[in-house]
Amino acid sequence: MASLRNSFIIAASTIMLAACQTVWQPSSAPSSDTGVERLYVLDCGEGVAGDISRWSPGVNIGKPMDFVDSCYLIKHREAWLLWDTGVADAIATMPDGQRPADPRATHWRRPKTLAAQLEQLGLKPSEIKYVALSHSHPDHSGNLAMFQQSMLLVQKSEYDWPVATGPRFPPGLLVTQIEGDRDVFGDGSVTLLATPGHTPGHQSLLVKLRKTGAVLLSGDVVHFKENWDNRRVPDINFNKEQTTASMQRLADIMTKEKAQLWINHDKAQREGQRLSPNFYE
Ligand SMILES: [Zn+2]
Repeated sequence: MASLRNSFIIAASTIMLAACQTVWQPSSAPSSDTGVERLYVLDCGEGVAGDISRWSPGVNIGKPMDFVDSCYLIKHREAWLLWDTGVADAIATMPDGQRPADPRATHWRRPKTLAAQLEQLGLKPSEIKYVALSHSHPDHSGNLAMFQQSMLLVQKSEYDWPVATGPRFPPGLLVTQIEGDRDVFGDGSVTLLATPGHTPGHQSLLVKLRKTGAVLLSGDVVHFKENWDNRRVPDINFNKEQTTASMQRLADIMTKEKAQLWINHDKAQREGQRLSPNFYE
């Protein structure tokens, strides 16, 4: 009886694991020769989107949805790299968070600051050599001013993108403007991928980990899994055709690299992930 029950549990958990893997982990291949030692997932904001049809035109009209905002800290054997900086740490001091001007957009809260999460790991912002940005929207670039001694890696077309409301980037930053893809450490372990569409110079990041295998950090090529599955393009995006092409590019890279797709704002996915100070290797 006990062994029957055990085999049921094993069978059930195998099915569950298989289901998880088809959704998020298409048989990721570990990479033994990578220079990446650790990848931390940081909580860079939590929010409620007022109306998710803003991201999926004509679908789920009026339906709110919880969002998360993620940053990812990478320890390469040569240097630290931070991917995105989240919503501004100042939001942590606002008792009711930051309400958006457009009620359909996201009402952000900051339960933990980026500064506190770096400090918990014993890191000062000045020790982060590279800050790479998926794009310049405030929920990704909110803490750039903290990194005056880091090198900002941003697409030239994002850096040059004019904005009506004032400077898109804080003054005084060290900036490398990138055109196209870039192998950051020259060993193929951390690669910036040009994925325009959400904004003119949007980029994604491919990270190869020793045990976890390849992980593709989406940026905002897609905001949550339902939109990925249905290839839906938000009407707020800069260019619809480019977005669709960038989604296809990520899908092709997932197949080629056997990579998992980690969607920055997808709450359900992040709830299944280990958050800093835990890490992936
Ligand atoms: Zn975003």
